[in-house]
Amino acid sequence: MKLRTLPCLALSLLLLAGCTAQAEPVEATFFAMDTVMTLQVYGGDQALLDQLREEVLRLEGLWSVTDENSEIYAADHAGGQPVTVSEDTADLLSQALSIGRATGGALSLTIYPVVRSWGFTTGEYRVPSQQELEALLPLVDDSRVELDGTTLTLPEGVELDLGAVAKGYTGQRLAQLLRDAGVTSALLDLGGNIQTVGGRPDGGAWRVAVRDPEGEDYAAVLEVEDQAVVTSGGYERYFEQDGARYWHILDPATGQPARTGLLSVTVVGPSGTVCDALSTALFVMGPEKAAEFWQAQPDLDFDFLLLHEDGSVTYTEGLEGRLTLSGDWADRPVEVVRR
Ligand code: AMP
Ligand code: MG
Repeated sequence: MKLRTLPCLALSLLLLAGCTAQAEPVEATFFAMDTVMTLQVYGGDQALLDQLREEVLRLEGLWSVTDENSEIYAADHAGGQPVTVSEDTADLLSQALSIGRATGGALSLTIYPVVRSWGFTTGEYRVPSQQELEALLPLVDDSRVELDGTTLTLPEGVELDLGAVAKGYTGQRLAQLLRDAGVTSALLDLGGNIQTVGGRPDGGAWRVAVRDPEGEDYAAVLEVEDQAVVTSGGYERYFEQDGARYWHILDPATGQPARTGLLSVTVVGPSGTVCDALSTALFVMGPEKAAEFWQAQPDLDFDFLLLHEDGSVTYTEGLEGRLTLSGDWADRPVEVVRR
């Protein structure tokens, strides 16, 4: 009896799994980490979505620079004293610090005093004087961050901002939670910071659009499976004063918005944390250094797409065959970077 029902049960479970994977996704949209997030999960239920949302809010609660109860707030205001942080914070921090070192400081998590001086934290934008920036720049130095296990010590005045890496890490964490729950198909949009799980439920790759930084439409479509697609661009957050535009991605060497002739940088790869960290860093580095960095770092698994202010496009060879330029960007001059 047992022997005969078991295969039937197994078969019906399989069919069920097949059915749920083809069905409409369960979906949640909410505001967190200063952006609108939309999670689409195939073969999941409301309880799973709630779990994902709670995880996002929990991580946001650890890393917010403005929430007085966050671990980063505590570290930033500890007056040089060590604080104990969670495993999650220590994990993100150690990964991000190490990528920051690899980028030669283009990604600097200690940029916060400068970010604040421009008003990007509060939205009360202002252009800080050269003198003010020069006084803050010595504080922008990740080598002064001491992380020993879960003990974090920042010298007086040094302050962390994980804004450049938090969403990528979070997307990666959500993808892991979904895979652990047996989900094989999901599309997680953390405010333009995309994390995919598997491919589409019908078996094809996810088609992820890259926004046109100069218009409302999109500039490209990328085919990805089980990867993150993260874009950084000056158009995402900026203000204008006296005819000049100032954006939120800052060059740690000068404290000024990074101006390297790029409109946006999109990084594609299996690690959301790496993609998020590098989208910010490559924007700061600019096209030549970005290409050299990619060529010199074969161990960091990623590809990139650059949209230049002069209308041209650069991408790495790993995107060949899975990148389609579209709209106004369809006929632009293209350079492919190879190793
Ligand atoms: P993203 O949108 O991922 O490129 O991150 C941009 C955010 O990271 C900004 O809003 C700042 O909070 C912070 N940030 C700006 N410039 C840098 C930098 N050079 N290194 C690290 N974080 C930065
Ligand atoms: Mg980033």
